[in-house]
Amino acid sequence: MSQYTPMIQQYLSIKAAHQDAFLFFRLGDFYEMFFEDAVKAAQILEITLTSRDGGSKDRIPMCGVPYHSSAGYIKNLVENGHKVAICEQVEDPKQAVGVVKREVIQIITPGTVIDDHLLQDRENNYLVSIEKEGDSYAYVLCDLSTGELKGYTYTGNELSFIQLLFSQGVKEIVGDKDLHDTWKNTVSQTGQASVSIQEENTLEDQFQHLVETLSHPALIRAAGRLFHYLSYTQKRSFQHIKPVEFQQNDKRMKLDAFSKRNLELTESIRAKGKKGSLLWLLDATMTAMGARKLKQWVEEPLFVKETIEKRLQLVENLIGEFFVREEIKEQLKSVYDMERLIAKISYGNASPRDLVQLKRSLVSVPILKEKIKEISGTYAAEIYEKMKDHKSLAQYLDSAIHDEAPINIKEGGIIKKGYNEKLDEYKDASLNGKAWIASLEQQEKSATGIKSLKIGFNKIFGYYIEVTKSNLSQVPDRYERKQTLANAERYVTPELKEKERIILEAEEKISGLEYTLFLEVREYVKEYIPSLQKLATAISELDVIQSFAAISEQYRYVRPTVSENGNVNIIGGRHPVVEKVMDAQEYVPNDICLNRERSMLLITGPNMAGKSTYMRQLALTSVMMQIGCFVPAEEAELPMFDQIFTRIGAADDLVGGQSTFMVEMLETNFALTSATENSLILLDEIGRGTSTYDGMALAQSIIEFIHEKISAKTLFSTHYHELTVLEQSLPSLKNVFVSAVEEKGSLVFLHKVIDGQADKSFGIQVAELAELPQEVISRAKTILQTYENQEKNESLPIQEVSAAKEEEIQESQLSLFTEQSESVRKRDSKELDIIKELKSLNVLEMTPLDAMNTLYKLQKKLR
Ligand code: ADP
Ligand code: MG
Repeated sequence: MSQYTPMIQQYLSIKAAHQDAFLFFRLGDFYEMFFEDAVKAAQILEITLTSRDGGSKDRIPMCGVPYHSSAGYIKNLVENGHKVAICEQVEDPKQAVGVVKREVIQIITPGTVIDDHLLQDRENNYLVSIEKEGDSYAYVLCDLSTGELKGYTYTGNELSFIQLLFSQGVKEIVGDKDLHDTWKNTVSQTGQASVSIQEENTLEDQFQHLVETLSHPALIRAAGRLFHYLSYTQKRSFQHIKPVEFQQNDKRMKLDAFSKRNLELTESIRAKGKKGSLLWLLDATMTAMGARKLKQWVEEPLFVKETIEKRLQLVENLIGEFFVREEIKEQLKSVYDMERLIAKISYGNASPRDLVQLKRSLVSVPILKEKIKEISGTYAAEIYEKMKDHKSLAQYLDSAIHDEAPINIKEGGIIKKGYNEKLDEYKDASLNGKAWIASLEQQEKSATGIKSLKIGFNKIFGYYIEVTKSNLSQVPDRYERKQTLANAERYVTPELKEKERIILEAEEKISGLEYTLFLEVREYVKEYIPSLQKLATAISELDVIQSFAAISEQYRYVRPTVSENGNVNIIGGRHPVVEKVMDAQEYVPNDICLNRERSMLLITGPNMAGKSTYMRQLALTSVMMQIGCFVPAEEAELPMFDQIFTRIGAADDLVGGQSTFMVEMLETNFALTSATENSLILLDEIGRGTSTYDGMALAQSIIEFIHEKISAKTLFSTHYHELTVLEQSLPSLKNVFVSAVEEKGSLVFLHKVIDGQADKSFGIQVAELAELPQEVISRAKTILQTYENQEKNESLPIQEVSAAKEEEIQESQLSLFTEQSESVRKRDSKELDIIKELKSLNVLEMTPLDAMNTLYKLQKKLR
């Protein structure tokens, strides 16, 4: 250490305490980085790496960014998952003895950013703090930019949990060192979030009031850890953090990350963007707060009938009140992002413009209230209650802050006339001075007779009188020369200097006083934080509901009935997103009927017929109902599902790097082990990822397992037509198929789902539609023919022995059996029947699946 200059020593000691962050070390107008940080940052930020002498024999690597344009660089680093520790000079350099004192005043991390340019308007930015307890996790989500705090518990596999966190919009994960070490690689590989360590997890008294609703000790520790991390990184108080909302598992529909992804709730699978997702369809919100709330709702559908009905009722009432709804929409347009404005106020970095935005938002409130009052229903009344109109605060802000106030708080131009007497005096002085100067030009022109005489101002010389060279002879003696230009001279007079002094003094006082007054105003607004937050929540909910109403009306959705007996009865149901993006053709509506006697549907039909669409249609309809929105159907009755599982055969793996089939099985396993009879399971061509017999066998055993052990409502699409025989052995399973017809040799999709089974796969016809080379198509037809003939004439491909030999063996075994059971036969005529049946079987003409099924049935009879 001692080899370095005192400043570098100071740098190193601060850096030692902030190993995991880029240390932005303030030096004059720059933030400088040194050593490793400099080398890495220069590369990431594409800035020049230099070096400086620091006392040791080697020069120290260094790079820097200007203080005024640092925001962009910080954004770049944070968006790439890094942290930035801002280290400022904390004493006046003029008064410092030795090295100026410096301290880290804030650590900006991906999960704690609150600046507008680092955030997405319509999305939450979450930090999560985690406590692990065996197989379970307690976790608290915090969006520092809005003050939201939510507590959850989760039980299940680590990878699914991480995926779930990503799907909730988590940008940074905070845990103890153990968690950090085990998660770090998995998480950072995805580039979706960063992992930070915070060992301390005891809850400090000052945060007690925020966690009163929590009873789970692990959750309280998770909150404790969160607050320690926030204090460590933000180094200030957070008055805007709201009490934690505990999200009870039994009050929400559980949706794991795979299902969310497969259903494209908030993001489409292919394009990875919002477009094409359910959220995209439903979003007609007018405010950023509403957009974020909608996303939260879509991600967490409810499992509480009362709340669902409450929302549905308000949607219905709003649909019925077109003009009121239009008025509400209009008013919402002038409501700014109050949640984030409040956070900035709490943080002490709200600008004058932010306060103007707050005022403008408040001005809309009384009108909004008036409108919502016209709507009947409990929810409307609740929203009305929560919306305190804050008239006096709006008036106060209006009296204090200029509508055209700047962003900068040190430039003046913030405070309105009439707010502060002293300020008005200074302003008058300045104005009078300026008026005097303005009149001076005319006055001097006539006094000197110089027509081109001008009064001007510049920063270095202040006010001056300018006379062109050709008129110099007319300049009076009382002018003092100040500056010489190429073709003019500039002068001052003692009176001008005196007025200038008054003006400048007044202006300095003005900006100083405006700054102080602004801070006072901002401080005053802080008192309203809790009630402003309530107001913001009410507005955001109103915005989401009006969005539901608008979309439901636009697309002719209907209010669903929440069924109590688990039955699904959807008449004329549609897939809302597919319907929306279809341009030329008409969407073909389909019915879905599920009940105790018909709890599983096995869906067959050619590729592209609409199997996947049909399945998702049900899931999306359920999600829409459980978030309180109308649904795309003519009539709909459906139960609340506690969970929805959506699995797609041979899906691409995003995280783990496992084989796709492994992922398919992992996902399926999770569904099979977690589903209940109140769940909805969608299995889309499960088993596709492996060889035919393998896949078919798995598919069948999965179907049987769900049928026997879970009884969840299940839709299973498959291209294994052989599976349709299961209808005979599984009483609650019904075959349906998506119809298509062959017209003049090519395939026409009808997209109509009907009971029964398709007799063909039509794979080749689909290939033909896709315009594969004619050669390939006709060759495929020939091969298919051969297979079909083989199936008729030959035995199983896996058999080694000849068909004749096989027959011999089987026949001898059968006769042995009949001999041995001679005496038994007499005892039971049922057994006799079974033996008859066995004898009559033509095993060689059966597919393996038929054989298995027959065996299963026979065995069942015997038992
Ligand atoms: P499958 O799963 O049977 O291969 P998909 O469900 O993926 O078929 O549907 C293929 C395409 O058919 C969809 O992208 C959609 O454009 C169209 N489609 C599906 N169902 C319908 C329907 N009910 N009405 C109109 N078009 C549909
Ligand atoms: Mg499909």
